[in-house]
Amino acid sequence: MNKYWENLLQSTSEAGIDLNRQQLQQLHKFMELLQTWNKQMNLTAITDEAGIIYKHFLDSLLYAKLAQADEAEEVVDLGTGAGFPGLPLKIWLPDCKVVLVDSLQKRLKFIEEVVRALCLKNVELIHGRAEDLGKDEQHREKYGLVLSRAVAPLPVLVEYCLPLVRVKGRFAAAKGPEVAQELAMAEKAIVILGGLVEKSINYTLPFVNEQRTMVSITKITATPSKYPRKAGQPAKKPLC
Ligand code: SAH
Repeated sequence: MNKYWENLLQSTSEAGIDLNRQQLQQLHKFMELLQTWNKQMNLTAITDEAGIIYKHFLDSLLYAKLAQADEAEEVVDLGTGAGFPGLPLKIWLPDCKVVLVDSLQKRLKFIEEVVRALCLKNVELIHGRAEDLGKDEQHREKYGLVLSRAVAPLPVLVEYCLPLVRVKGRFAAAKGPEVAQELAMAEKAIVILGGLVEKSINYTLPFVNEQRTMVSITKITATPSKYPRKAGQPAKKPLC
């Protein structure tokens, strides 16, 4: 185990995330697949071992822990891309059902391969847009916890995610240093969609010293039926 993996193990353990040998092997295999597939398709700009370990694995795990994913039975990762934060979360919490959503089929093909190679169970892959899922009876207001990293600014993101959250459930967003401004811009949208900001936790991603914030929004009332608006509208005309 080189120092990057030792650092990952130390930071996760300090955060209360226990990873055994098998879980570390799964992360290692995931990294290899990511590096291999990334040569054929654009999955991530981060391809070096340290970058993948810190900026993808550690970042996903610390965020999932702060979002209290370990208390949820089922978690949705909206706009999962190459599987972040959803796959590291699944590796950490093998008993949690994880639903990975993305509008790009080719990224889901990659995830399918990782799920197969790592023998992960109880992972659902959904190819679709958030705006369509939010209108679909099968998914609207059905989930206790929705996560999303690096998908859209908060005013747009809440229209993607809050419709999927059931009343009393939560949407927990991963955000960077611009969070205060995004929160101010999203204030009205959050109220309209039935949410209430419960808390924001600022922290530093170790080893790369980047600022992060986990914003947790509780769903206090049902989302009005006209939201989410049709595909493309939330990004074109954010609710603010
Ligand atoms: N969460 C990953 C990927 C971020 S890139 C990470 O942190 O690394 C953003 C991803 O969101 C892309 O894969 C894109 O296809 C997906 N996406 C963007 N808008 C979406 C929408 N409206 N519905 C579903 N997926 C969307």
